[in-house]
Amino acid sequence: MSRSAVPLTIADAEQLARTLYGRVATATRLNGEFDENFLLTIDRQPDSVLKVSHPAERRAFLDLQNAVLTRLGHVPAALGFRFPELIPTTAGDTTALVPEGFQNAGRFVRLFTYIGGIHLGDAMPCAPPLLRSLGTLLATVDQALLDLDHPAARRRRTGDGSDGFRWALADTLWVRDAVHLVTDTRRRALVSRVLDRVADEALPLLPVLRQSIIHGDASEYNVLVRDGRAIGLIDFGDLHRTATVGELAVGSVYAMFGAGDPLGAAAQVVAGYDGTLPLTALERVALFPLMLARLAVSVVNAALRNAQEPGDAYLTVSAAPAWALLEQLAEVPPRVAEVRLFGPVDGVPLPSYSALRVMRHRALGPSLSLSYHTPLYLVRGWKQYLYDADGTEYLDAYNNVAHVGHAHPRVVEAIARQAALLNTNTRYLHHLIGEYAERLAAMLPAPLRVCYFTNSGSESNELALRMARAHTRQRDVIVSAGAYHGNTQTLIDVSPYKYGGPGGAGREPWVHEVPMPDVYRGPYPANDPDAGPRYAAHVSEAVREIRAAGRGLSAFLFESLPSVGGQIIPPPGYLTAAYEAVRAAGGLCIADEVQVGLGRAGTHIWGFELQDVVPDIVVCGKPIGNGHPLGAVITTPQVAASFANGMEYFNTFGGNPVSMAAGLAVLDVLAEEGLQQHALEVGAQLMTMLRPFTERHALVGDVRGAGLFVGVELVRDRTTLEPADREAAAVVNALRERGILTGTDGPYHNVVKIRPPMPFDASNATRLAHTLDTVLATGCSPGS
Ligand code: PMP
Repeated sequence: MSRSAVPLTIADAEQLARTLYGRVATATRLNGEFDENFLLTIDRQPDSVLKVSHPAERRAFLDLQNAVLTRLGHVPAALGFRFPELIPTTAGDTTALVPEGFQNAGRFVRLFTYIGGIHLGDAMPCAPPLLRSLGTLLATVDQALLDLDHPAARRRRTGDGSDGFRWALADTLWVRDAVHLVTDTRRRALVSRVLDRVADEALPLLPVLRQSIIHGDASEYNVLVRDGRAIGLIDFGDLHRTATVGELAVGSVYAMFGAGDPLGAAAQVVAGYDGTLPLTALERVALFPLMLARLAVSVVNAALRNAQEPGDAYLTVSAAPAWALLEQLAEVPPRVAEVRLFGPVDGVPLPSYSALRVMRHRALGPSLSLSYHTPLYLVRGWKQYLYDADGTEYLDAYNNVAHVGHAHPRVVEAIARQAALLNTNTRYLHHLIGEYAERLAAMLPAPLRVCYFTNSGSESNELALRMARAHTRQRDVIVSAGAYHGNTQTLIDVSPYKYGGPGGAGREPWVHEVPMPDVYRGPYPANDPDAGPRYAAHVSEAVREIRAAGRGLSAFLFESLPSVGGQIIPPPGYLTAAYEAVRAAGGLCIADEVQVGLGRAGTHIWGFELQDVVPDIVVCGKPIGNGHPLGAVITTPQVAASFANGMEYFNTFGGNPVSMAAGLAVLDVLAEEGLQQHALEVGAQLMTMLRPFTERHALVGDVRGAGLFVGVELVRDRTTLEPADREAAAVVNALRERGILTGTDGPYHNVVKIRPPMPFDASNATRLAHTLDTVLATGCSPGS
């Protein structure tokens, strides 16, 4: 759609004002992309704005504009904002037609009140109060329109009922077809990369964001400024229904033009907006990618218009600052942008790093520890990335709790939605607990069908041990050396890592330790085809000793892939034989899946499945809530029946609707994003890159893994296997300095653990492998 081939003359405009509106005025032409606009001046005072629509204008769209302006007319005057008001013709019509005999007869003509002020573009670079007032203005407009709907607001570029509208955020990717018109190759590549980001980061969120009619074009020429404040908005030609936050994205983009610190400027607009119309969690996530979307459309559209109508200055007027801004923003990681836009924790001023350390020392128990030589002050997470208070990004390669990714919007939204509805306990009927229990049970082999819910891995193991005692009426437990199962007294008693470690009180007589089935460090090596049964023979031996001592076996508690124990992959046949011995003695087999469950191993959902066994009790924690405190115990109907001995199982928080919503969202995301298969593929790629390290680096004794559960064991001597614990600490700290987070594990703290959030991808794996390679080659002398 192009502007009138023959524009109205000034005399035409003045004549129209007289004929239709009875105004004897002097007309001056104003800018306009499609419409023809004239400022009418009477007695040297600006009076009103005459607007003659472009030929393709639709009546329904003018109805929409009029409905919007009516709404805005109700915004309290005390707020100090002004919006155009329609002035009727002398015949009383708010929308008239250019009469016969005039140039462009038949087009729609309207007269608006004049608002005054200067354009935002003439107030640039904008001072913070102006930027904040712009945010408030946009929020005020959006709030007024929140519950307004109109059929003409559904605008698309193509398809049914399309009016060729180019600015619908949902349609952003149309510009891919026009990217070739960007003549500069570097810029063309830049905008293509940005469009990939938009496709990845913004478009999937659009449909789930709050939707409403927005102005959609709060550009530097449509925002009016007086006394250093944004006071008005004009030109309602881009009204459309989309994500509400799109308004803020568009307005912020123009407010950033020419700013020395664009994201700092946008943060002011955001603060003003958020103070009036608070943004939802998802809107916060979507805002920056939507800004990129607007910029991309803006620059490509300018190239397109330039190709269509070369030399039209108005069409390309905003292209230069838009390109400059796009170049500044294109590579900013999403969470860095979020930290800049909302402040590290959404505008709340943060205490300094040193103040935090003092506070921690003063207020928290000294038995808490901090990771890394230089502890991290983390304020945000996103997928497999973490961000510190300065906005520095870290690749998280070991926090398995954020299973489907830090702050996954689906999980966040599920928690928020349920928290806003109801949170209570299991003494009332609720659909979510049943739904989650059935989903979880369906992921386990029969006869594991009965679920109990807790708030942590520890609570779950504790409950599992109680069940085993109730079922067997025995107390003794067999565990593997180096194992860790939780922080309660009973669990410390069954965790050799704790009772045998610093501050530990030693082993209780009812606890029996068997060697860790570790084919690298243990008595039966990887090349022993009978290593599995041989390690299991120690379980049989423990059973015999328990019986010989006149005691009875309650349970064999084993972590399916021992994690704290050193990222161990037990040899084939271990659990089959061990379970057989345990069951022959009347004991129950408990699989601790707190660390490794839910697809991490890649080939299977659960770690025990790698050993082809079915436990009597499965214990879940950490990943199943993606960071929300959620634990589960799943057992057989028989064990559940024994446990129901008359004593109620009540856990105030266990099984609450918010936790259940979190658990369900995790399962949804896991399935929809195919994360188990992803873990299998990326884990295999990572292992392929890491395995040769045993040949390349003297320090690397062993590399082992299953899916995204990987351990790199460092030794000083390949014969004695002297653990390289200080070197491992140095490696982990060196990786941290290079922006990658790992930790150490194992009884000797010499195993670098790699257990990232599941979205960890192939490029992350390559980066980790290359960085580890460099660090091992250069930077890991003990104490460095
Ligand atoms: N089991 C295992 C195997 C664990 O590693 C842990 C925690 N590291 C737990 C249980 C206890 O879980 P939580 O800290 O959530 O109580």
